[in-house]
Amino acid sequence: MRGPPGGAGRRGRRWPLREGRGKGGLWGALAAEKAAELGRLAAEAARSLGCGDAGLQAAEAVLRAGLLKLGGGVLGEALSADRGYRGPRVDCGRGHEALFTGYRDKLIDTVLGPVTLRRAWYHCARCEHGLAPRDAELGVSGQSMSPGLAAMTGKAASAVPFARAAGLLEDLAGVALTVKRVERAAEADGAARAAASRARAALTAGRKLVPLPPDPLPDKLYMVIDGTGIPVTSKETAGRQGKGEDGRARTREVKMAVFFTQDKVDGEGYPVRDRASSSYIATFEPAAAFGDLVKAEGIRRGADHVRQLTVIGDGAAWIWGVATSKFPEATQIVDLYHAREHLYSLTRSLEFMLLNSRDQWLAARLEDLDYGYIDGIEAAVRQYPLEGVKKDEVGKELGYFLNNAPRMRYHWFRSRGLFVGSGVVEAGCKAVIGQRLKQSGMHWTVAGADAIITLRCAEASSQWETTYRNRHNQTGAA
Ligand SMILES: [Zn+2]
Repeated sequence: MRGPPGGAGRRGRRWPLREGRGKGGLWGALAAEKAAELGRLAAEAARSLGCGDAGLQAAEAVLRAGLLKLGGGVLGEALSADRGYRGPRVDCGRGHEALFTGYRDKLIDTVLGPVTLRRAWYHCARCEHGLAPRDAELGVSGQSMSPGLAAMTGKAASAVPFARAAGLLEDLAGVALTVKRVERAAEADGAARAAASRARAALTAGRKLVPLPPDPLPDKLYMVIDGTGIPVTSKETAGRQGKGEDGRARTREVKMAVFFTQDKVDGEGYPVRDRASSSYIATFEPAAAFGDLVKAEGIRRGADHVRQLTVIGDGAAWIWGVATSKFPEATQIVDLYHAREHLYSLTRSLEFMLLNSRDQWLAARLEDLDYGYIDGIEAAVRQYPLEGVKKDEVGKELGYFLNNAPRMRYHWFRSRGLFVGSGVVEAGCKAVIGQRLKQSGMHWTVAGADAIITLRCAEASSQWETTYRNRHNQTGAA
């Protein structure tokens, strides 16, 4: 083992306190003190082990709590090696000079427990505000949590409701935080990530940032675009029309896109999604802003380079608006399962005329649809002359097929080995959004839901990120 860390610290900075107490210096004294504490812990763990069945568990608990505390102490000492003095004056951030006024303490929660950070404090007379350059360097400006604990909290709170997340953090990580702090930290983490990805998306969509194409390049890239309602507080829907009986909206729509790739078809000619190839984006923002995110993620996923680019959607007009403006070269496909739903609905509207031939008629139309023969569906509907309300109702149902006819050439799409349904990813969307955001009794603020959705999309995309990064590294290192 190497000696105490008296030499180079992180990022090669020399610890400023090297002289210090006694023969081994400050770090030597510290090491001796910590070693003594470690000895006491070891003895206590050994005693616990002798206490029968629960001995091992007790020893684990004793050691973990003790080591966390010890680690917190070491972290505190390490932090105190740099008091954050950056000269008598520093830039306040707005081009003025802020003057050194003394040292101030800040309590931060870390994965090792609370740690007090004593650092130089500066004050800008013109802005009338104070700042500590050290806080910015450590990533704790305006924060009461270390970046490590904030990331851990974000991970827990994006997976399960806030109260359970607080419980998990305490049980699994030994970190005690109130539910409110878990919520605030996760929302801050998610909001920061959302802002960063919006900024990156603007640069990418504007071609100011050009990501390297994925390597190896996939043959087919799909974007499945969808919208789903998130239950929100009444304040968030004030003045908005809803579908409920009282006409009040209870949800706000989050727009979402899943990107995945496909290289192969199976023995029967059905396309097979590439493993771990999905990445997710979602936002409450209007279609235009969503479009920029889609554009950027598409570019990142190789949309400019793949042989076949496909957009799948349920038929909603805004989806094709985004697809056409952002990726005009993409093949547009209406999800076959949504189209079938519409066909069932169309059949119900005609039921009163179809009578006994209903099932036969529906079966024939489903065959038309599977083939992409929308003219056949139209001709079959037009055989029934309708009047009034019924005419409007059926006309609307039929309109869905006529408006989307070029996006329903299913036979042709299939012959090219393309997916024609979004079923493969719809389950993924439900898992990413629904499982966390749509539990009974939940009412979100838009900002809060957006932050948690951002965290969950990042988590769900991490498999692709990892695979892609590794591949890339291997290529570089080979
Ligand atoms: Zn200033």
